[in-house]
Amino acid sequence: MTKEAKPDIKSLQLGDLEKVARDLGEPSYRARQIADWLYQKRVQSFDEMTDLPRQFRARLTELVDFSKSDLVRVLGSRDTTRKFLFRLSDESLIETVLIPASPALYGSRSDRRTICLSTQVGCAYGCKFCASGLEGFSRNLSPNEIVDQVIATEQESGEKIDNIVCMGMGEPLANLDNVLRALRIINAPWGLGIGARHITISTSGLAPQIRQLAGEKLQIRLAVSLHGATDDVRNQIMPINRRYNLETLLAACDYYARHKKQRLTFEYILIANVNDSSDQARRLGRIARRLDAKVNLIPYNTVHGLPWSRPTTEQQEQFLSILRASGVAATLRREKGHDIDAACGQLRLQTKRQLQNTGP
Ligand code: SF4
Repeated sequence: MTKEAKPDIKSLQLGDLEKVARDLGEPSYRARQIADWLYQKRVQSFDEMTDLPRQFRARLTELVDFSKSDLVRVLGSRDTTRKFLFRLSDESLIETVLIPASPALYGSRSDRRTICLSTQVGCAYGCKFCASGLEGFSRNLSPNEIVDQVIATEQESGEKIDNIVCMGMGEPLANLDNVLRALRIINAPWGLGIGARHITISTSGLAPQIRQLAGEKLQIRLAVSLHGATDDVRNQIMPINRRYNLETLLAACDYYARHKKQRLTFEYILIANVNDSSDQARRLGRIARRLDAKVNLIPYNTVHGLPWSRPTTEQQEQFLSILRASGVAATLRREKGHDIDAACGQLRLQTKRQLQNTGP
């Protein structure tokens, strides 16, 4: 078996673990023992799984990888949002953000601890306001690298996470198979046991994959990064809109909402003089009403090297009040990570540049 062909233990579903056990001449209940060691006791090697036969552990070590992410840096902000930078086995850097109390984020109660997961190293979608897009795309994360962000962040922070958003570095729907494999493990009672309704995938607007996700059994939530209520505005800041324009995207959103009988959330980053006009607010209101979607307004976090800025507080409030006046359930996120560069990709970019400057 080549190194590349070896699966990682935290990418396997319970059924896969049962098959591994049977293939190695062991009863299938070994799968639950392994899952218990991985997701309850949180061990970091097969050797620590002491109720498995020694011979079986040796064979597992030969046939299955057991990788883990190394913590490189943590940044915490005054309001205790924390940002974790992890180094993966191929030296890639990814980041994960822990937000202890997010007021009614994605329909959750406000006492939830939310983790914002990365799903790719870098991103190919090149949204003009985003740090993750600045250095382009490197690779997809594997399921275990996504699952490990939850485990490692809980371990490093001592917090129990109960709300997941796939909204960090990368476009989750461009890595849909791996993301879904990871989320099934995160959701499963034998895995991390986080309820599907407390898991949100965010997309910049991959219309075909939104339709594909509608056929998925898992009742996870979907948040669509709209960031513009017309093609003109979206074209200016989100290249994906040239492939799937607003009409195509909204048709897919409508399909998803009807099929899943679920209320969507539109994310809308407010950027001064780009998408924060009253006209955009009115148009966004009409779209959200038509799809019965909620809107989360997020004031822009300045990215070093990019020209955009956040609107004044008055402008943000005015945008919000236009939406509310048109009957839309809208919230304005008073951004929790502003003082630690919490917008996606920023810590990674900063650390990578520092490492390049200082050498290994
Ligand atoms: S906003 Fe999301 S999809 Fe757009 S470049 Fe950044 S990470 Fe990629």
